[in-house]
Amino acid sequence: MNNYSNHIAIIGAGIAGLALSCILKKANVPVVLFEKSSDFSDYGAGISISPNGIKVLKYLNIYNEIISVSPKPKKAVFFSNNKKINSFDINVITTSRKVLYKFLYNKYKSLDGEIFFDHDLCDVDFDKAELKFSGDKIYKVKHIAACDGIKSLCRKKIDYQKEPVYSGYSVWRAIVEKKQQNTHTFLGPNHHIVTYPISNSKISFVAAIKTSKKYKESWKSSGTYNELRNDLTFSNKDSYSFINENTPLFKWGVYIRPHIKNITYKNLTLLGDAAHPIVPFIGQGGCLALEDAYIFGNLLIKYGSDINKTQNTYEALRIKRIKTIANMSLRQGHLNHISNPIIVYIRNFVMQYFPSLAIGSVRKKIWNYDPEEEIRNFK
Ligand SMILES: Cc1cc2nc3c(=O)[nH]c(=O)nc-3n(C[C@H](O)[C@H](O)[C@H](O)COP(=O)(O)OP(=O)(O)OC[C@H]3O[C@@H](n4cnc5c(N)ncnc54)[C@H](O)[C@@H]3O)c2cc1C
Repeated sequence: MNNYSNHIAIIGAGIAGLALSCILKKANVPVVLFEKSSDFSDYGAGISISPNGIKVLKYLNIYNEIISVSPKPKKAVFFSNNKKINSFDINVITTSRKVLYKFLYNKYKSLDGEIFFDHDLCDVDFDKAELKFSGDKIYKVKHIAACDGIKSLCRKKIDYQKEPVYSGYSVWRAIVEKKQQNTHTFLGPNHHIVTYPISNSKISFVAAIKTSKKYKESWKSSGTYNELRNDLTFSNKDSYSFINENTPLFKWGVYIRPHIKNITYKNLTLLGDAAHPIVPFIGQGGCLALEDAYIFGNLLIKYGSDINKTQNTYEALRIKRIKTIANMSLRQGHLNHISNPIIVYIRNFVMQYFPSLAIGSVRKKIWNYDPEEEIRNFK
């Protein structure tokens, strides 16, 4: 048995796990990070980080480094049937996951953070705070912060009856050599396509389609150009003319998991996708993971050894926000895939002539969120 009984054990070196490790290590809280893979994998995917996530990157002092190698598009341009509907001012970073992981990891290393790769969690005792990894490696820890992603083992153990249900949507993605300044969203019947720059010469392409085909929920599942074309039958080819037979393409089935009632249990706290696996239609899963890390980490620092108080406050601060964003994300999925021409007309009319109605609530409810203020104002 490895004795780490005064350490917070973080399971999963993804966005939530890396951010939480940095926050705790920065405040000299003993922390140890476990990751099942041998290294970080970015799965060749992009990520867009909105102001609520940017606040956490600034707090970690890695914002300037990320922005030095990542685009900062100024406008989100929306099209319907390939005609521009409107464009909105935005304040986001769009980058590759590789860049985000690299700077989070470098930060953790610069603080002398301890990380164990090749540690695949296979069992947990939440009463004793004991972790069992593949190869029979056992660790005794103080508390478990589960940041083990959408298929979290820890979540399954406390929420075992709830199986994910296919959402009716699947997503294609690719990274392509192309120059582009702004984010572009093409809304079409039963599908939508989003492209944004992730560097000076590359863009991220994501096409979501409404389909009964249940693709696997996996970053690694590849597909062919012909399959993509079949799925995008109703799309104008111009909106993805830069994709061809040689483009590496990946597909992801979007599944819905019911809201979990509690995100803390005994010696366990869930963060990121492990706590709230949401559909990806407003690009908030990673930003919520950053917010969770900020809030849980700073509560741990504030309340010291009173883990119960930390857990209760974390839950009180997060549950409502998680639910709101999960519901907004589902709603956005419906709006983006409308096929009835009359409703399409109404949606586009609202976006064109009442932009504050179209984007106002996203700005107000999601982007303007300040986790520091949230902790300060909590009574
Ligand atoms: C197509 C698509 C596009 C998206 N676009 C955006 C976007 O633009 N903006 C945004 O904010 N979000 C976006 N998201 C959501 C975002 O990717 C996730 O919400 C985010 O990665 C969650 O971070 P996390 O740290 O909780 O989990 P992850 O990043 O998945 O990390 C989990 C980590 O835990 C490790 N792990 C898992 N099981 C174990 C185990 N048993 N033992 C040890 N380690 C383990 C994994 O290897 C991994 O490193 C998108 C999602 C999809 C599918």
